[in-house]
Amino acid sequence: MSTTIVLPDGSTLQFDAPPTAHEAARAIGEGLARAAVAARIDGRLADLSALVPDGARFSVITPSVPEGVEIMRHSCAHIMAAAVLSLFPEAVFGIGPAIENGFYYDFELPRPLSPDDLPAIEKAMREIVSKKLPFERSEMSRGEALELFRSLGQYLKVELLEEMEEETVTVYRCGDFIDLCRGPHIPHTGRAPAFALSSIAGAYWRGDVRNRMLQRIYGFAFPDKKALKAHLRMLEEAKKRDHRKIGKEMDLFSFHEEGPGFPFFHPRGTAVLNEITAYWREEHRRAGYREIVTPTVLDCKLWHRSGHYENYADNMYFTSVDEREFALKPMNCPGAMLL
Ligand SMILES: [Zn+2]
Repeated sequence: MSTTIVLPDGSTLQFDAPPTAHEAARAIGEGLARAAVAARIDGRLADLSALVPDGARFSVITPSVPEGVEIMRHSCAHIMAAAVLSLFPEAVFGIGPAIENGFYYDFELPRPLSPDDLPAIEKAMREIVSKKLPFERSEMSRGEALELFRSLGQYLKVELLEEMEEETVTVYRCGDFIDLCRGPHIPHTGRAPAFALSSIAGAYWRGDVRNRMLQRIYGFAFPDKKALKAHLRMLEEAKKRDHRKIGKEMDLFSFHEEGPGFPFFHPRGTAVLNEITAYWREEHRRAGYREIVTPTVLDCKLWHRSGHYENYADNMYFTSVDEREFALKPMNCPGAMLL
């Protein structure tokens, strides 16, 4: 029975049997197939190895669309995890998503990392890239996956699996690294984006301070070397213009250990601050506004009412006063609305 697939412009392609997404991309054009990182089949993102069923709507995902870049960045996190596994066979893996400008992965490792470790990890990543290892997808029952990750000692993945509701899950293998992941990914490591590891940070498992602290490695990743270089150059330029550096040089303000993130304004900085505030106040007065002042710390009842508590509690700061729960205002508006 022949297979017909529908392209974004409404035209159709015929095959003798359901093609893989990669075969379907080739049928559209060799250049497109070379640029492809994944596909969209009936609205869902899929690997290039996925079969396109009869009647499916099909489109190719390339690095020219945000989803394509995100898939490349996320795949790069797997490559970094594989590199870390080759250097630390005892590593336990947390999660490794794509983020703005790159990716990260969280690990539990036998020793704390330092920035001096990054070149070795990058080197191991480049070796994996040069081997063009496939990203192999397999579907299995949740029970089978639990057994697999238990046997690997990956107790953080076991924890994730235990909380999942799906009966069938997908697991991807890239070299020796096996991950619980929905995908999709680039077809093989040779299609990795241009990358550079940037920094190491501590990160609580699942962002919860009650959980253990993992080590997070951040990397930058862009579809090509030119875009990566441009980003790194922009960061260098931004460093030169860092307000913490300029503020110090101009004797405007300083930062002290006792107040992380809080500027202490010097006489010159205070003069600038007052001039800006006076200008701001005058513009508001001319536009017909009147000023009010609301408290900096308010009862959590208000933050429940405004929805800030439910949505932003992770980024809020709490305190209790006379056995009532208060929070520093995350925004001005609820206080103003109350008034
Ligand atoms: Zn993945």
